[in-house]
Amino acid sequence: LVRLEGVNKHFGPLHVLKDVDLSVGRGEVVVVIGPSGGGKSTLCRVVNRLETIDSGTITFDGRELPAEGRALARLRSEVGMVFQSFNLFSHKTILENVTLGPTRVRKVPRQQAERRGMELLERVGIASQAGKHPAQLSGGQQQRVAIARALAMDPKMILFDEPTSALDPEMVQEVLDVMTGLARDGMTMMVVTHEMGFARRAADRVVFMADGQIVEEGVPAEFFTRPASERARDFLSKIL
Ligand code: ATP
Ligand code: MG
Repeated sequence: LVRLEGVNKHFGPLHVLKDVDLSVGRGEVVVVIGPSGGGKSTLCRVVNRLETIDSGTITFDGRELPAEGRALARLRSEVGMVFQSFNLFSHKTILENVTLGPTRVRKVPRQQAERRGMELLERVGIASQAGKHPAQLSGGQQQRVAIARALAMDPKMILFDEPTSALDPEMVQEVLDVMTGLARDGMTMMVVTHEMGFARRAADRVVFMADGQIVEEGVPAEFFTRPASERARDFLSKIL
């Protein structure tokens, strides 16, 4: 579904993505791990073109990423993104947060968007909170709303950038459970996370990234038991 070939990205003198080759197939769940500053967030951001690249190519669904206009808007709606900070609209209700994209961008009739919005809130276990505002919800609940909001656009893929890092420990699992459910249902996902339990259970492939490079990748069972690189062994010994 997504293919990056020879992708390079600099921030001034900083070389943040170095000749990155990576593809994510339809229905595949790729978990990206690695030390801080290694370029994981940037990798997510170039895929839905929140950042431009300096060289290389990225294709989504067979076409090179559009630079602007309607095609870019379509790409953004086809590639959902869930961030560490939930980024919900604080002055809108939970249901409004979920229906806003479909009604504004997709011109879905309000009633239809609300019916679907309620189904999605049901799916993430939060339908009873539909009329509340984000501040009235726990962090874990807010992040589940953010996932429902991404799903409301019927994305072909969802990017998750450390979706549980800002949560109190007791709320991490409820969000990971929703993500595991999505993975089982065949959603294409790229997930940056430090939750190795999730990576083991839900990932089809683990990508280890450090200093802007993909150092190694493999299926979780292989990667976690026999990491090939010194760098990955060192990283795992610190976090496991
Ligand atoms: P973390 O685990 O801390 O989230 P990361 O692997 O997600 O790290 P990135 O956020 O992609 O890493 O950052 C890679 C490098 O690029 C870092 O050195 C960071 O400071 C730098 N960087 C990221 N975004 C920008 C920006 N907009 N302008 C300048 N430098 C940036
Ligand atoms: Mg990051």
